Amino acid sequence: MSILVVEDDTAIRTALQRGLREREHAVAVAATGLAGLEQVLRDRPDVVLLDLGLPDVDGLTLISMIRTASEVPIIVITAQDDDPTMVRALDGGADDYIVKPFGTDQVAARIRAVLRRGGKGAAPSSALRVGDLVIDDRTRVVTLGGEPVELARKEFDLLWLLASRLGEVVTKREALAEVWQQAYATSDRTVDVHLSWLRRKLGETAAEPRYLHSVRGVGIRMVDPGESGR
Ligand code: CA
Repeated sequence: MSILVVEDDTAIRTALQRGLREREHAVAVAATGLAGLEQVLRDRPDVVLLDLGLPDVDGLTLISMIRTASEVPIIVITAQDDDPTMVRALDGGADDYIVKPFGTDQVAARIRAVLRRGGKGAAPSSALRVGDLVIDDRTRVVTLGGEPVELARKEFDLLWLLASRLGEVVTKREALAEVWQQAYATSDRTVDVHLSWLRRKLGETAAEPRYLHSVRGVGIRMVDPGESGR
């Protein structure tokens, strides 16, 4: 898989390049937006990691320039968790975002998730496995201990989001943006209600969670109940 990193910060660019190469990815780099755009068009990478704060072109503008010519998955890198900018980046055609500082493992996980969603076929299997739970993004079939679990569309999307970011806290706002494609218009209650339906179908409750743990005031974290007793 080929990855293009567009980032003007030399330290971050070099660290990403090294970390992703260690994971056997082909990594190209660009230090400016225009160099990045040229490489996207010429080299057709499988994924673009794009820093929003570039010296020559505004990141949001660059996303729309790339989108006029390419469907390549774009993961935006940003220095701060600035919601309005992120929402505009996602609305403008970015597929996901990651906030500095981050580890290469986290970046690699996001890349896998974006490729799965994009159906680019880079992953041999489209299924995520968490404990006894198997979630297949291609067939949209979920099984728990081998037994099928019937989920509504948004329930599936929410579960997929949480599973693809296993162990991380996903905020309700992120869930609204990713599953419902809206960050502000819908209330947090939408997420709460779907979460409670999901829990019931997975045979757990908020008071005694197994897979789906609420982090008060922050969001939801999915965990493998077989690991470390959490
Ligand atoms: Ca920068």
